[in-house]
Amino acid sequence: MTTASASDTYSDTIIRAACPHDCPDTCALLVTVRDGVAVSVRGDPDHPTTHGALCTKVSRYTERTYHPGRLLRPMRRIGPKGSGQFEPVSWDVALDDIAARLKAIAAREPQAILPYSYGGTLGFVQGESMAARFFHKLGASLLDRTICSTAGEAGLKTVIGGKLGLDVEQFEHSKLILIWGSNSITSNLHFWTYAQRAKRAGARLVSIDPWRNDTAEKCHEHIQLRPGTDAALAYALMHELIVHDRLDHDYIAQHTVGFDALRERALQWPPERAAEVCGVPAAQIRQLARDYGTTRPAAIRMNYGLQRVRGGANAVRAIACLPALVGAWRDAAGGLLLSSSNHFAANGAALERPDLLAGRTPRTINMVTIGDDLLREGSSDFGPKIEAAIVYNSNPLAVAPEGDKVRQGFARDDLLTVVLDHFQTDTADYADYLLPATTQLEHVDVHKAYGHRYWLANNAAIAPLGEAKPNTEIFRLLAARMGFTDACFTETDEQIAALAIAPDARNGGITWSTLRASGWAKLPGPAAPFAQGGFPTPSGKCEFWSQRELDAGRGALPEVILPYECAATAPDLAARYPLAMISPPARNFLNSSFVNVDSLRALETEPSLLIHPEDAAARSITDGQMVSAFNDRGTITCRARVSKRTRAGQIVALGIWWRKLSPTGTNVNQITHQRLTDLGSGPCFYDCLVEVAPQ
Ligand code: SF4
Repeated sequence: MTTASASDTYSDTIIRAACPHDCPDTCALLVTVRDGVAVSVRGDPDHPTTHGALCTKVSRYTERTYHPGRLLRPMRRIGPKGSGQFEPVSWDVALDDIAARLKAIAAREPQAILPYSYGGTLGFVQGESMAARFFHKLGASLLDRTICSTAGEAGLKTVIGGKLGLDVEQFEHSKLILIWGSNSITSNLHFWTYAQRAKRAGARLVSIDPWRNDTAEKCHEHIQLRPGTDAALAYALMHELIVHDRLDHDYIAQHTVGFDALRERALQWPPERAAEVCGVPAAQIRQLARDYGTTRPAAIRMNYGLQRVRGGANAVRAIACLPALVGAWRDAAGGLLLSSSNHFAANGAALERPDLLAGRTPRTINMVTIGDDLLREGSSDFGPKIEAAIVYNSNPLAVAPEGDKVRQGFARDDLLTVVLDHFQTDTADYADYLLPATTQLEHVDVHKAYGHRYWLANNAAIAPLGEAKPNTEIFRLLAARMGFTDACFTETDEQIAALAIAPDARNGGITWSTLRASGWAKLPGPAAPFAQGGFPTPSGKCEFWSQRELDAGRGALPEVILPYECAATAPDLAARYPLAMISPPARNFLNSSFVNVDSLRALETEPSLLIHPEDAAARSITDGQMVSAFNDRGTITCRARVSKRTRAGQIVALGIWWRKLSPTGTNVNQITHQRLTDLGSGPCFYDCLVEVAPQ
């Protein structure tokens, strides 16, 4: 049942919905439906953090929904893998065959079956509910869903106990905002609205980022450090706060653990040392420390860009120490925000039913290493060879690192690949079966956010297009064919949505039945969560020093860990491939979503890379010329943009283009690597050396 809250005209109905995409803002949507057709999607003007505005991408959501390339029927492969040649088949034919083949594999070894999914939707219902139940019942391999944020989460958890922080609505009252590792205008638009309000009220905005992105352009100051050196910068700031005694001694004494050890470590990082590592002037570090130590309220908005390097988790750890040192958490508009996710209480066990494993403990595959893992034979270390991959809410051919290995893996003739999607993506070209999934306008879901504190309901606005089905229904039908009779496999989407919101004090009295009518509801709880301490760490304090990390054989203090691929740690590699490459998101794409929406792709025009004038001149590269960026893992082709928005020695290649919509059928992940972060086993997309040559 949908909820009509207002009418624009006699026949228009407005449906309350939520943006499903992997973005901290989780906007509240109003979908106008006319005679069964969604004619517009706009931001809810009454929702405080959406304030009536959507990003360019999602304001085109009807174009995406009714795109001529939408998959509307199940498809079966008829050409070689990768050829993209399919024929339509009925749902019965597709599901009967998939189930029969999964049964045959599971009878030998269920762990040979691998689910592969991530943030194509962040909804609890169409994400890991019925799908997780299906794979748990099957005893399939588990997937470590690491591809975005796990390093930062691990680092943050070590210091403050979880993905918690200041309320985004408070940033407008901050007087100093450090925007650290984030192009907010692209990736966190609604935070930027609050930052602009603060700026108009006199706040100082400082961007800390390796490239001069749109957000850095609009800040008062840009600290353009080398990628992967954020922990060194944080330690130098601590050094200055300590030697100039710009500390909140009372807060440190009452609410932190390990200050003496942290002090000793920080004193090893005078600004000159950090300047050498980070490639920024020592005077700029000193000034930033002075500002941070003397301005109240002072807030930090980190985002996940900075943790996509070898030392990403420890960088977040080091940065997370700063607010407690100066007592910034005392202010509602002070402290830091990386993710608000743990302010919510979601009922993961009821949704995903790990009890269906019935005592089995399948091996876990890290989604970052899918390239290697699809190419591995069975062994005692690895377990069985992967024989089937069921891909939903993800496009690994485009988004996973070392893309040519991913492509080779999915090209295996002995691999059963099933892809649930809206479009024939790069990955879909390698599928044996391609199953049409519904978009957010066509199904029910419930969402929490990771950039604000509102639960949101997504009511279905229109009927499924063609023969598309919700992910839940596809897994329900497969479960029935597998003979799974547990009652949970017949739960409706509405029942699943109701389970998602746990009866927990953190959620106040919010329930699905109230939420689906109101569209959104804010969590209770103080704006300044740690004004009086109370960190959810083992000690209950902000842990500069972590006994838990020490017990695990790791550093008790945050560490400065330089990238795998840089001149300091890999001089021979740097001699051959001297340019550091980062690949942050293009403004009009969201990971690999929206690349096939013509009007958005037209805005991005074509794959390009920014190269500094000095580096361009040294290679006889002129602005607008086609170039190759390459290393031992492969080559990509882009148009060079000669620009001082990047540092000398660094290129910026915006992502994530579909391979098949790029000039030579590759994208940036052709040349990224599969090594993992220090904590959290995350990817190191921004830890990558390349060389660039004119074509
Ligand atoms: S992608 Fe982000 S900014 Fe855009 S509509 Fe969705 S939640 Fe809002």
